[in-house]
Amino acid sequence: MRRISCDICVVGGGSGGIGAAVGAARTGADVLLIERDSSPGGTIVSAWVHNWEPVCGTSELCRRLYERMRRMPGGANADYSRSLSRLNREGVRNPPLPFEPWAFVRSVEGEFRECGVRRVLCDTDFRECRVRSGRIESILVQSSFETLEISAKFFLDSTGDIVLARAAGCPFSKGAESASAFGEPSAPESADPSDLNAANWCYRVRPGDPGGSPDAEAVSEYPPLCIHRPKFCVTMPNGDLLVNPCGTTRLDPDLDPEEYAERVRTARELAYLCWHWDAFAEGKKLQWIGLAPRIGIRESYRLSAEYVTNENDILAGMNFLHEDIVATCDHPLDDHAHGRCRELRGGYGIPFRSLLPRGCENLLIASRGLGVSHLASSSCRLSRTIMTLGEIAGRAAGLCVKRGCQLRALRIASEPSLLSISLKKDSRNNG
Ligand SMILES: Cc1cc2nc3c(=O)[nH]c(=O)nc-3n(C[C@H](O)[C@H](O)[C@H](O)COP(=O)(O)OP(=O)(O)OC[C@H]3O[C@@H](n4cnc5c(N)ncnc54)[C@H](O)[C@@H]3O)c2cc1C
Repeated sequence: MRRISCDICVVGGGSGGIGAAVGAARTGADVLLIERDSSPGGTIVSAWVHNWEPVCGTSELCRRLYERMRRMPGGANADYSRSLSRLNREGVRNPPLPFEPWAFVRSVEGEFRECGVRRVLCDTDFRECRVRSGRIESILVQSSFETLEISAKFFLDSTGDIVLARAAGCPFSKGAESASAFGEPSAPESADPSDLNAANWCYRVRPGDPGGSPDAEAVSEYPPLCIHRPKFCVTMPNGDLLVNPCGTTRLDPDLDPEEYAERVRTARELAYLCWHWDAFAEGKKLQWIGLAPRIGIRESYRLSAEYVTNENDILAGMNFLHEDIVATCDHPLDDHAHGRCRELRGGYGIPFRSLLPRGCENLLIASRGLGVSHLASSSCRLSRTIMTLGEIAGRAAGLCVKRGCQLRALRIASEPSLLSISLKKDSRNNG
């Protein structure tokens, strides 16, 4: 078996993994990124969520990526500066930032080149990890052709479903917590592990004649779920509409595999039927362009981190409850499974300890699977928030490698930049 070594191995190349790789590489670390798909991008590219909702607290990396896309003809055309907070001064939602998936991948690759992320292994799947004395020594990954063993000083789990952290034995949770877990005012009395935010399949249409005649099979089968469905539509740079038929199914990873597969199949069919209904029953002039390669998943397993960010942190707003706040977010509590969207008055903070697993010293989480409660996850899962947190995780890992210290030796302070990481006094080179 071939063996590869690096300073920092990032597993998963979605929003969080991109941030993590860039954050780590900028400290001078030798970074290796592993990605299951054929390119980095994650949900943005594979589930066609190529749109950034307005949100506060995003890092300069996000702006650089967007500006790169704007320089590509047809890549992106919105004004980045207008989406730096959820609401404008009049309390109206700021515009989103649409862009093309191909432009995003090019932009990420350009950023990788510039900041020194030189090794990216795509079409490579994480399989298992070797842990000794609370540290991950190496992981086994499977490329299209061979099994590789990768050893690293530090690992970042950016897989969304925290596959590496779970394989390493870190505690995790799933679904809605009971009110007693974190004292969240809106949590239910009893926990419900199957209560997950909704998944759905995005598609793309173009204003114009739908063409042809209605598909008879579809007409006979319009299920209630596709009729008058709330749809989130964003106009792409070429005038196409990216349609997100919000909340068509729930995908619990603990479902029987056949039931899971059936729900995925039904969600795909619903996307087509949603368009069919609009075009032929409602008579909207919309031409079918295509369906995303994958279903989009908002929530699955979440880390039981050193600190779990929860509704109380969100309600505290900018009166931070912790000293280690590293990012802010002002997206609403937005639960598509229940059709609930609770707008916030302003931003709130996410502490560094929510990226920190229990029981593993050289691992940080840089994805939507970070340590947040079910309620908090409905707010802070936006791509740019996850990318910003990923960048911080990467930077912290890079600093540990550079100084030969452990995570707990880092002093993380909430400062105006929200990105102040330094070493605690007397903690240099403490192994
Ligand atoms: C339908 C939908 C609509 C949304 N709308 C918006 C929106 O409008 N605006 C917004 O900002 N956010 C939106 N979001 C939220 C946002 O897209 C996601 O929360 C965010 O992209 C998650 O990033 P991530 O890096 O955590 O995960 P992902 O982007 O899912 O990245 C995880 C990566 O890990 C890889 N991976 C997984 N397992 C392995 C393995 N075993 N080995 C190797 N690689 C692996 C995957 O292939 C993937 O590339 C939406 C989400 C959904 C589902």
